[in-house]
Amino acid sequence: MIADSIHQIEQKLQGRARLIAVTKTKPVPMLQEAYDAGCRLFGENKVQEMADKQPQLPADVQWHLIGHLQTNKVKYIAPFVALIHSVDSLKLLQEINKQAAKHNRVIDCLLQIYIADEETKFGLSPDEADTLLTSPELDPLTNVRIVGLMGLATNTGDTEQVRREFRGLKHLYDRLASIDRPLIQFSELSMGMSGDYRIAVEEGSTLVRVGSAIFGSRN
Ligand SMILES: *Cc1c(COP(=O)(O)O)cnc(C)c1O
Repeated sequence: MIADSIHQIEQKLQGRARLIAVTKTKPVPMLQEAYDAGCRLFGENKVQEMADKQPQLPADVQWHLIGHLQTNKVKYIAPFVALIHSVDSLKLLQEINKQAAKHNRVIDCLLQIYIADEETKFGLSPDEADTLLTSPELDPLTNVRIVGLMGLATNTGDTEQVRREFRGLKHLYDRLASIDRPLIQFSELSMGMSGDYRIAVEEGSTLVRVGSAIFGSRN
């Protein structure tokens, strides 16, 4: 079941974007099943859950933190996290840099951009992202790299609206990618979930975050 779903999604992606299996709330044996089917990228939205699961899976799993991150919790994932998708402030970026330095690592990050027509979603506005990426306060941060953007489209059946939101994020990505600083090295655009990843890939996504289409619905 899990393997079949993964292979079907991989077929639809046609190598245009990489698949992150979103494993939040799912037990370790299900993660192992996804691993055995070839998945190496796993997404979790809670620090504690990710830190608990990480030692129970093979070491070549890349762990992606896709949920809101509090500064006081960065230390629990700094030793191993592959990519943090949810950076939404300078303060958080500074803390990630500090914790990464303790482990002699450079941690890759995405800025989360608010693109949805909903009030509950986290993220920076395009202007705030611009301000952050051009801030002189980024100069001392040598243990983080900002490798792109992440966004969540509105949860709606209006596929044209979803497409417009993804297209807007891609335009922002293209504009911000040209900022010339050592720690800005754009290569990843994280957009698309179970319900909208096909549209996201058509609009330029490089990383899709898919949970329920692989593992079934969450309670
Ligand atoms: C849960 C979650 C997903 C996956 O959602 P599905 O609809 O189950 O594919 C993707 N991105 C984020 C940020 C999530 O929290």
